[in-house]
Amino acid sequence: MSMKTDIKLIDDKGVRIDGRKPDQLRPIKIEAGVLKRADGSAYLEWGKNKVLAAVYGPREAHPRHLQDSAKAIVQCRYNMAPFSVGDRKRPGPDRRSVEISKIISEALESVILTELFPRSSIDVFIEVLQANAGTRCAGLTAASVALADAGIPMKDLVVGCAAGKVEGTVVLDLGKEEDNFGQADVPLAIIPRTGEIVLLQMDGDMTREELFNAIDMAKDASLRIYELQKEALRRRYAIVAEEEKEEIASMEEIKEEE
Ligand code: ADP
Repeated sequence: MSMKTDIKLIDDKGVRIDGRKPDQLRPIKIEAGVLKRADGSAYLEWGKNKVLAAVYGPREAHPRHLQDSAKAIVQCRYNMAPFSVGDRKRPGPDRRSVEISKIISEALESVILTELFPRSSIDVFIEVLQANAGTRCAGLTAASVALADAGIPMKDLVVGCAAGKVEGTVVLDLGKEEDNFGQADVPLAIIPRTGEIVLLQMDGDMTREELFNAIDMAKDASLRIYELQKEALRRRYAIVAEEEKEEIASMEEIKEEE
């Protein structure tokens, strides 16, 4: 953030370095239910980011001292693959991944009906396969779909989306160059239906008014991302329903033969 550079990040017409308008998202693709072994899963591409989310649970929390007799605990592990960035990333947890895991757990916990599952744990694994700025938002957005795919009761989905400031302009969803050389990056998590903010961080600085503009931009975008999440889940349920229909049909055939 705020490194000096000669690169022009926004041209005179307000077009960003990757061709986007200030309030335009990078392309997003979501697929739910991509892993057979997990209770729920999702794969998401967001610009050049590629992330996988897997959910297990609710299951008995281990070790037992972690158990909460009033509600389920939500444990998230965000991990970046060694090959996810330009220079090989040292495998294993580091300060950054511990921080991101914590804030994503808290954002997810705010929508999950944890009180329905005392003494349990809901485990969320986020694997970043390819990183290009905005991976915490991409990971959170994927995790939310994976939780729904696992059938975990939630009051709503949650969406991650960043906004920020580049060359004096408030912009949505910073790309890698904008993240490196821009003035501020503000990752947010939003409950789209209510506009409630469940995560807000800021790297760099901007005025109060710019911050409010950035938040409004991210809130608008969260509704667009929410539609993509729901479409992914609808496609997933359509496939499940089709498979169940086939299974019932084949069972009826067997009965008729008997
Ligand atoms: P986010 O991915 O949520 O934007 P950061 O702002 O910390 O999180 O990181 C911005 C980008 O910097 C990442 O998306 C990734 O492309 C890159 N990056 C992060 N950590 C590393 C690392 N250890 N090595 C190389 N690049 C990294």
